[in-house]
Amino acid sequence: MPEGHSIHRLARQFSSVFGGERLTVSSPQGRFAAGAARLDGHVLEAAEAHGKQLFLHFDHDLYLRIHLGLYGAFDFGGDETFIGSSSIGAPRRLGEQEVAGDDGAGYSGPPEPKGAVRVRLVSKHGWADLRGPTACEVVTEAERQKVLARLGPDPLADGADGAAGRAAEFTRRLRSKGSPVGLLLMNQEVLAGVGNVYRAEVLFRRRMSPWRLGRSVGEAEAGELWDDVVRLMNDGVRQGRIITTEPQDRDDTGEPVPVSEAHYVYKRTGLPCRRCGTPVAGTEMGARKLYWCPSCQAD
Ligand SMILES: [Zn+2]
Repeated sequence: MPEGHSIHRLARQFSSVFGGERLTVSSPQGRFAAGAARLDGHVLEAAEAHGKQLFLHFDHDLYLRIHLGLYGAFDFGGDETFIGSSSIGAPRRLGEQEVAGDDGAGYSGPPEPKGAVRVRLVSKHGWADLRGPTACEVVTEAERQKVLARLGPDPLADGADGAAGRAAEFTRRLRSKGSPVGLLLMNQEVLAGVGNVYRAEVLFRRRMSPWRLGRSVGEAEAGELWDDVVRLMNDGVRQGRIITTEPQDRDDTGEPVPVSEAHYVYKRTGLPCRRCGTPVAGTEMGARKLYWCPSCQAD
């Protein structure tokens, strides 16, 4: 599942390729036909992410709310002025499609939709196809506010002003719960945007047992946890991938960082811990695989 950093990148991409453009909106698959009709012909004013939620703001104060979930993905294509010819979300099972116009041969509109395209957005210069989302609906400002009110703070939210407030809010929400931190970090009501990779990696980096209960985490510890999530996720937005290891903990120090050196514990079950050599352990927590070092992250 794409974590929050991917959704923030997606929001930036929408702003850059469709911002200020009047869009033709359709649902080739038909499942979103009524919603698409409410947006068709309107101008996209802004795209924003909160955690794993994407909101596309149209000029008549309606929003398209999208949650990609495990299988959702966008494909983009268009002419040479449209810098979005890539896919963000789940890997495309059929491989990425090359799009006419990328080679400067001219752009004559989007290709025939392939597969179950829930929504297609088309501007003068390019198009985006969404397949397989968990949520895709038109919401009003009031409904958007309701969705946001349920979510915890987003480590990637803009604005230094609210930074202290967001940290304090995370600390308050984390420490009010009696569940293990391994569950709470994935709970979007505690903080919005963290998924399975960041959960495992940040707990390792803070040397914290995934079974520590939220209410037993001290204020200073919670603040450090938050700061590390903010740092790692901002790196993720910049780099377009998740790298959590420090250079001194990698065996191969080549650049770009090899996939095999990018993480401390995520998907490293049985391999030696980069810090202490203990085999990395794996189990299920919150219906997702959890990875940790039993020595570095002892209770
Ligand atoms: Zn270790």
